[in-house]
Amino acid sequence: MTGKRVSEMSDAEIRELAAARPGDVLGGQAPEPDDGEDLDDGTEPYCTACGEWAALFIGVDGWRHFRGDPAPGGDRTLYEADHEPVIGWTVPPGRGLSPAGAATLGQALGDAIAYRDPAGDCTGCEAHPAGLCQDHAEDLDKADAYIELAGALGIEVER
Ligand SMILES: [Zn+2]
Ligand SMILES: [Zn+2]
Repeated sequence: MTGKRVSEMSDAEIRELAAARPGDVLGGQAPEPDDGEDLDDGTEPYCTACGEWAALFIGVDGWRHFRGDPAPGGDRTLYEADHEPVIGWTVPPGRGLSPAGAATLGQALGDAIAYRDPAGDCTGCEAHPAGLCQDHAEDLDKADAYIELAGALGIEVER
């Protein structure tokens, strides 16, 4: 069976499909589903358990986590998390980010990545079979998360 991907659907269609409860995140200000008119209040569904985006995909049962752009028509990559999504609705954060702000964020992420870079002398790392001690493995995970976030935002990281 073929069908529309969620990224090809309008917000109203997604919301109809979802039958979820908008307003949980917006202080109970759920949009009134009047006669199918403009339901677009700028919110998108996400998982309140982990904070990542979630959506319904045609041909896939239930809510799924995805990475990518929550805007209609945005590129999305579905992935399996270790939990079922718990759906809330929120206005996507970061709309106040200007081009200058994005450049600053790129510098900040670059500084943070350099700070977490596990290069250097560490007897713990040398002794560890994986070449990284616990602390520095955690640092590396954080650096990877910063790099992934920068990539998702299309931000050039100054390094
Ligand atoms: Zn989740
Ligand atoms: Zn170490």
